Amino acid sequence: MTQWCGGAPWFKAPFMRILRREFAIVTRFDDSVPAAPIAAPSAPCQLYVHVPFCESLCPFCSFQRVRYREDKARVYFEMLRREIRLYRDRGFIFADVYVGGGTPTVSPRELGETLRLIRACWPIRTLSVETNPNHLRPDVLDVLQSAGLDRLSVGVQSFDDALLRAMKRYEPYGCGTQIAARLAAARGRFPTLNVDMIFNFAQQSRESLERDLAIVRDLDVDQVSFYPLMTSASTARPIEKNLGIADPGRAFEYYGRILERLRPAYEPSSAWCFSRAASGPGPRSIDEYVTQQDEYVGVGSGAFSYVGGRMYSTTFSLNRYRERIAAGESGITDCKVLTLKQRMRYDFLVRMFGLSLPYAFIAAKYGRSFWWRMAPELAAMRLIGAIRFDPDAIRLTERGMYCWMVMMSEFFTAVNTFRDELRLRIRTEGRRPAAADLVPAVRGAGAT
Ligand code: SF4
Repeated sequence: MTQWCGGAPWFKAPFMRILRREFAIVTRFDDSVPAAPIAAPSAPCQLYVHVPFCESLCPFCSFQRVRYREDKARVYFEMLRREIRLYRDRGFIFADVYVGGGTPTVSPRELGETLRLIRACWPIRTLSVETNPNHLRPDVLDVLQSAGLDRLSVGVQSFDDALLRAMKRYEPYGCGTQIAARLAAARGRFPTLNVDMIFNFAQQSRESLERDLAIVRDLDVDQVSFYPLMTSASTARPIEKNLGIADPGRAFEYYGRILERLRPAYEPSSAWCFSRAASGPGPRSIDEYVTQQDEYVGVGSGAFSYVGGRMYSTTFSLNRYRERIAAGESGITDCKVLTLKQRMRYDFLVRMFGLSLPYAFIAAKYGRSFWWRMAPELAAMRLIGAIRFDPDAIRLTERGMYCWMVMMSEFFTAVNTFRDELRLRIRTEGRRPAAADLVPAVRGAGAT
């Protein structure tokens, strides 16, 4: 394993400190401006729909999630549909849709109605939905199948019963054997069945990881995403209490083992997403992160958008979200304008996470200035052997995959910390002056 990465000391503390600081700058909205109008992009973009309800709250999770209540969820889904119609009326065109959470399938009937609305509004190319293993039931799967779902992503995290107990997922979502049986039964119902796994828990032994990898391979699902455990200020203590303190240095060893065990049956489609190697001319699986999408709009409480070089956040308060939608506004309350250099860095980070950055993309979006403005980052990554310059694109090397796995986990840790800050603001949000809102179909350009 050290052959492909040459050891990890070159990728340690000082470099990580710089990364943390840089990512925190991009994700922090403390210099936010009033949410100036989102301009509907000239090209179709991605729609992200956030459903924050979960039947049980996992201690390691930093997402915007609240305990499920049927009455609250019913109202929330109604507001979501209103917000979706708002974007339709304002000229937005969405081609790819990702429904995440939370647990989007907590209310199959409401979810089905929402997906039907989306399909009626736009000619959708790909539709992805997240779920939990206990929802791999015929009634839920039927709703998703009739909505024309392309990709179902199941949050498994591990098949190890001791780890599932430590994560507080054993009771609500089932033991490893039950989860594997449900996945086996769901296989083949959608073009892509993805399994989300986490690695490098403090209590995760090498043997436990090997068992997880063996089960994933035996299940032969279309896609598997292996994320490193990511924290935030608010989850650091619960993770330490329930799961212990992980050794970041071990992530390097475990990541190498994941690559070794999954290939050649699976090919990386991003630094931590692996899709079953295509055996024929058919389409490849849809990736976890749409790294080829420039812009996206998030609807629902706690969703982010990236359009026209601006990052937007919707309110994290469910009450405030309801009030805003009822008043005919979107859920957006904060906006941050990224500098040109920040936009270049963001594209570099996200596109390279998807393994390559085509020169044609750089030329069309930034022209020649990309090369001199990004020269230090490109030189540093080339120097450590993380990237190579192919005739058509910048590509990640084997070593680069590890670098990007670490950098993306740092980026998402910064996003998680930002979510903590936005949750803290809920108490005062109602007293803040209302931010300006979207305006109809102004054309513009501009990414999580
Ligand atoms: S990990 Fe998934 S099920 Fe657990 S609290 Fe987070 S969103 Fe909910």
